[in-house]
Order: sequence, then structure tokens, then C-alpha cells
Amino acid sequence: MERLGRLFINLQQVRQVPQMLTEALPCTANTLRDTEVPCFFRERYIHSGYRPLHQTWRYYFWSLLQRHNETINVWTHLIGALVVLSKIARFAETVDFMNDPHSWPLLILLLSSASYLTFSTVAHLLAAKSELCHYGFFYLDYVGVALYQYGSAVVHYYYAIEESWHACVRGCFMPIASFLCCLSCFGCCYGKYRNYSLPSWVRKIGQVVPSALAYSWDTSPVFHRFVIWFLSWTRGDFRSSPALLFHFGQVVFFLSSAFFFTQPVPECWFPGHCDFLGHGHQVFHVLMFLCTVCQIHGSYLDYLNRRGFYVKLHADGEALFFVVLFILTFITSALIALYMLAKVKRLIGYREKLCKE
Ligand SMILES: [Zn+2]
Repeated sequence: MERLGRLFINLQQVRQVPQMLTEALPCTANTLRDTEVPCFFRERYIHSGYRPLHQTWRYYFWSLLQRHNETINVWTHLIGALVVLSKIARFAETVDFMNDPHSWPLLILLLSSASYLTFSTVAHLLAAKSELCHYGFFYLDYVGVALYQYGSAVVHYYYAIEESWHACVRGCFMPIASFLCCLSCFGCCYGKYRNYSLPSWVRKIGQVVPSALAYSWDTSPVFHRFVIWFLSWTRGDFRSSPALLFHFGQVVFFLSSAFFFTQPVPECWFPGHCDFLGHGHQVFHVLMFLCTVCQIHGSYLDYLNRRGFYVKLHADGEALFFVVLFILTFITSALIALYMLAKVKRLIGYREKLCKE
């Protein structure tokens, strides 16, 4: 009874969180309605809380501590980045990242997770400065996503894979994963660039299909491992693995985050009422962070418990090759983003010229 009572009190406190957040953060001076900002800046069903364009950089940095419609998006990934950085520091106490090449895939996942969370924080905080900044910072966000896709692929291939799937994809898994990272970076950048000229469903396909392909490929070792586990479970000779539970968690969190990324839920049911807290993109951020935490834990457990297995599976020097490929993937996706940004800059310049004439 006492526990139930405590649980009830805790639930009551959770219900008060939205109000506490609203009261704790001062409102940003002169936030605007959706009708007062340019089209590229508007989010569907979000009616208010837009920060004005062309303010000083100081204004946007300070808006971290103020209430507007990007505050929760910024904080969810800022806290996520800090959690991942603290994990790197904690793992470094027991894992010899410098001298153990078998730990490098885990390090790549940690660094890529910290990067995508940081880039996303920066994008949501500073993209309101101007149209070019909006594109530039979100392109940076897409580069972070490409890096994280690579980080996911490398830990799944290195630690989580089973022998039979490894025999099918050895030699081609990581090069294909790297190509798909760059392809989804290009798809996302191009979809945003063609914001006005393509119907929204075509843009979504351009953005979602390459990312879905990359996810299916990068996570295939985990799906295959689920199948192997399930078959052994039906035969009654399965071995329990705590890492599998975390991998299951990462898949569930990722798939639910994909739903909130593609659907404007719940704001489409309450237009204008989720402007500060509760819109789908915030839920997407939280679910992606939970997916990342599960993935990091699952991979860390695999790194610890499957060592005898993956040391035999991967040749000497393979880990170093994956580090080099990681750097190449980063350079290529950054170049794609810069190339697309140059196109955006030309387009904005052309439009401004037309307006003057
Ligand atoms: Zn975001």
C-alpha cells in the first residue's frame, strides 16, 4: 500500500511537469505566430513560439534558457549528448580504447552518438538565425545522422553478428553501410533543398527510403540474431543473453521514433496546443535517445561477453580499416552537405535578385 501510495504521488508529480517547465522558463521576448515567419520556418500544426530571424548570435544562444517552440528539442538532445559523453568517460575507466583495436567499433559508436546529438542540439538552437543558417545547420544534423548510422552498422557487424550472416556479408557489409550513410545524407539534404518544388510525399520518400534502407542493412545482424535466438527457443536449447534484451529495446525505440518522425502526432489532433511541449518531434528526440542508450549498452555487453567469438571472426587490421572508413564516410557526407548548401545559397541569391528587379 505504501509503495502504491508513493507511485501515485510520483504520477501526480509527473502530471505537473508541463506546468513546472512552463513556469520555470521565461518566455523569449517577442516570439512570433506561424503567419509572421517565412514558410520554410513553419512546422505543421505549430502555431506560435517562433523566434524572429536576423537577431544576434547571442540572442539565439540565450534562447537555450527561454521558452519557445524549439526549447524542448534543444534540451532533449543536449542532455542526451551529455549522457553519452559521461558514458565515454565511464567506459574509459575499464576499456583500453588506446591499445585494444577490438574496442574501436564501440568507440566509433560512442563518438558518432555524441556527434549526432550535439549537431542536432546546435541545429535546433541556431537554425532560426536566417534561411541559409536553417539549411546549413540542418545539413550538419544530417551529417550527424549519417555518422550515427555508420556507428550502428560497425558495432552490429563487429560484435552482434552471428557466424552464418557474417559468412554471407563479409567483405561487403561495411562498404555498403558507408555508401548507404552517404546516400541517406544526400536524400535528406536534397529533400530539404527541393522543399518548394516537390510535393511533400516525394520529398518524404527521398528522405525516408534511403534511411530505411540504411537502417535495414545496418541492423540486419541484430535481426538475424533475433531469428537464431527464436529458432533455438522453439527447440528449447536457447542461451539467455542480456545484450539481446537491449538490442530488442533499441529496435522497438527506433521503430516508434520513426513513426513520430514521419507523422505530425499528437499536434495534428491539438493544433496550437503542443507548441511548447508535446509535439511529435520532441517525442522522436526522446525515443532516439533511448534507442541510442539501449544500443550502447547492448554493444558494450557484446564487447565484454562475446570477445572469444568476435576476435576469431574478424581479421587483424579490420578494426583499423573501419576507423579509416568512418573518417572517409564523415568527409564524404560533409562534402555532400557543403555541395547542397552551395546550391541553396545560389537559390537564395537568385530569389533575392528576382525580388529586387
Ligand atoms: Zn530534431
